[in-house]
Parts: sequence; C-alpha cells; structure tokens
Amino acid sequence: MNKVVGYAAHQATTPLVPFQFERRNLRPDDVQIEILFCGVCHSDLHTARNEWKGTTYPVVPGHEIVGKVLHIGKDVKGFKEGDVVAIGCMVDSCGSCPGCREHLEQYCDKGPVFTYNSFDKHDHTATHGGYSTQIVADQKFVLHVPKEFKEKDYPGVAPLLCAGITTYSPLRHWKVGKGSTVGIVGLGGLGHMAIKLAHAMGARVVLFTTSEGKVEDAKRLGADEVVISKNKDEMKKQVNRFDFILDTVSAPHNLDAFLELLKLDGTMCLLGAPPAPHPSPSVTNLIFRRRQLGGSLIGGIKETQEMLDFCAKHHITSDVEIIPIQKINEAYERMLKSDVKYRFVIDIASLKGA
Ligand code: NAP
Ligand code: ZN
Repeated sequence: MNKVVGYAAHQATTPLVPFQFERRNLRPDDVQIEILFCGVCHSDLHTARNEWKGTTYPVVPGHEIVGKVLHIGKDVKGFKEGDVVAIGCMVDSCGSCPGCREHLEQYCDKGPVFTYNSFDKHDHTATHGGYSTQIVADQKFVLHVPKEFKEKDYPGVAPLLCAGITTYSPLRHWKVGKGSTVGIVGLGGLGHMAIKLAHAMGARVVLFTTSEGKVEDAKRLGADEVVISKNKDEMKKQVNRFDFILDTVSAPHNLDAFLELLKLDGTMCLLGAPPAPHPSPSVTNLIFRRRQLGGSLIGGIKETQEMLDFCAKHHITSDVEIIPIQKINEAYERMLKSDVKYRFVIDIASLKGA
C-alpha cells in the first residue's frame, strides 16, 4: 500500500482538513498517477456537506484531475511513466451492461464506480478523489491529455474532466451546431464551459444569469447575448426562441421561466443537481409546444477523450483561479455566493508537507 495525503470532510458540518490514507498496490491494469491539479466542482461541495444524503465519511472529493503517470501495472498498454493524463468522475463500471457496451459507462446498470464516495468493486474499499497527492485507477478510466496542451495549460485542462464533459455530452446528444439557438442557464463552472463549447460548435449562444456583474465576461467567453433572468421584461423577449436550453444551476428554481423560451419541439436539459427539488413545472408549458424536459449525467470515457481532443483543437480550456488546498473551505463559501471566475483549481503541490 501506498501512503498519500489529502484533504477530507469528516462530517457534513465541519471544514475539510488534512487526511492521510492509502492507495492500493497496482493491479495488472492499474495506472498510478501523481496529481498536479484538481478542479473544484459544486458536486464536491454537495457531497462534502451530505446535501445528497449519500455521503460516506471520511470523503476526499475531487474529480477533475490532471497528473503524471508514476507507475503502470504489467498489463497496461497505451500509458507509460511520465505521460500527462487525466481522470474524471468515474474510475470503474461493470463493463458488460448495455450502457457500458455502448461507451456510456455513466449509465452503467450496476452504477459506475465514482472517483470518490463510491466503493471499489474488487476490494470494496472507499474511493477517494483528487484533493490528494496520488490516485490509482484502471487504465480504461484514464484519459490522455492531448499534446497540444502545454504545462501552463494544465490547471485549465483539469475542469474539462467534469465541467467540460458534462456540458459537451448533451450539446452533442441534442445535436447543437450551426443554426441552433442555445440558452445556457447559470454562469459558474459548468455554465462557462457550456458557453465556450456551444460557441465552438457554431451555435448562437444566449446566457441567462442572476449576476449582473457577469455580463461582460459572458460575452468574452462567447455568448452572443446575455439576459438577466430576474428581469421579467428581458425574459419575455426570449419566449419561443430556443432549440435547446442547458440548465446548470445548483439550487432549486422556477423551470417554467425557461421552458416557455423553447420553440416547438425544443428541449431543456437539466444538469444541476440541487439538494432540494425544483418546484414542479407547469404541464401547459410542455404540451402546447411539444417541449421536452430531460437531464444528462457527465459523459462516457470515449466521449470524454473526444471532448479533450475537441478542446485541444479549438484551444479551449477553463478560466481558473488557482488556489492552494489550504483555501478549499473558503473556496466552497465563495462558490455558494456565485463568486467564482469560473472554476477554482487546486495546485496539488500545496499538499506536499500538509
Ligand atoms: P457553480 O460553479 O457553483 O455554478 C452554479 C451557477 O448557478 C452559479 O454560478 C450561478 O450562476 C447559478 N446559481 C447558483 N445559485 C442560484 C440560485 N439560487 N438561483 C439561480 N441561479 C443560481 O456550480 P457547477 O460546478 O457549475 O455545478 C452546477 C450544478 O451542476 C451543481 O448542482 C453540480 O452538482 C451539478 N453537476 C451535475 C453534473 C451532471 O453530470 N449532471 C456534473 C457536474 C456538476 P449565475 O451567477 O450566472 O446566476
Ligand atoms: Zn463535477
């Protein structure tokens, strides 16, 4: 076993603190990775504070991981020592159900093994995430960081592993491209990636935000128009305009305000996973224009690699604020105030000696 140091939550109401734990010895298909950077997703906060009611403590969050290969197991092909690699939200799945066979491991019938707050399917130990110095994972769940990304890009690459793929996958699934008008609701980690990706796919992009101070940033990120969603008159002008709306908001809110903006046959896809339910939307808004309300969970491993390659080709990374791990509790408080531009990323070098 391999002793590592991380930051863990020990209960819902106390701050994350330094935590020593062990990573397993390498199995034949395992890759051992030294973590360089880890993004801070709102899901980390939901989990650390048990907002989804399923947290097993202690939990080391973090599923936006970029690092370097330290060692490989004897059956590993395609990775070697020193390669720059990445890990996202999953580290294993059953491999044989219809979802897994179609490269949709996130919809595995047995449930994917998540990077943290899950249990390894072989030895049943708790999985721990990227707020730590090292991670060990099966090669099938390790991604290549494309060579176009240089060392200075690595902090901005880390958030692609959750915020990037979670927005890329539904944009592709619902065939967003040239000629589509797309609404993005919420300008946080997911929202800012959604703007960049939808813009690169050729869509007309409209951001809906509650924060007046984010208007200029949204335009710089690629939004063609920005609407303050609290302003009823501005919202009225957007009715029946959208082919597709991606809702990234982390708190319960009124979905009808956005459903009525969809055209005939338009779709609104929910990505945010608030701790409490949204008020139920009105049936009228759905049936009168045959509108659809759906949801989407991260993306499969094959599609995650495709997204990384797409981002490399289009020079897309996340806009980040790099923090030392010692600032993680403060970062969570700022995230709750929508005060992130637009993803915190932990420099894992700050953990050495913690
Ligand atoms: P984030 O960086 O905190 O961004 C959330 C944004 O939502 C905020 O910046 C804010 O944008 C808006 N917002 C927050 N509270 C609001 C409120 N009460 N009313 C209206 N708008 C509000 O969070 P994130 O990391 O992007 O994650 C967003 C959500 O997606 C979380 O619930 C997370 O767990 C979930 N998630 C889901 C998946 C998936 O696979 N489906 C994957 C990752 C994350 P404005 O200031 O622009 O209004
Ligand atoms: Zn995430």
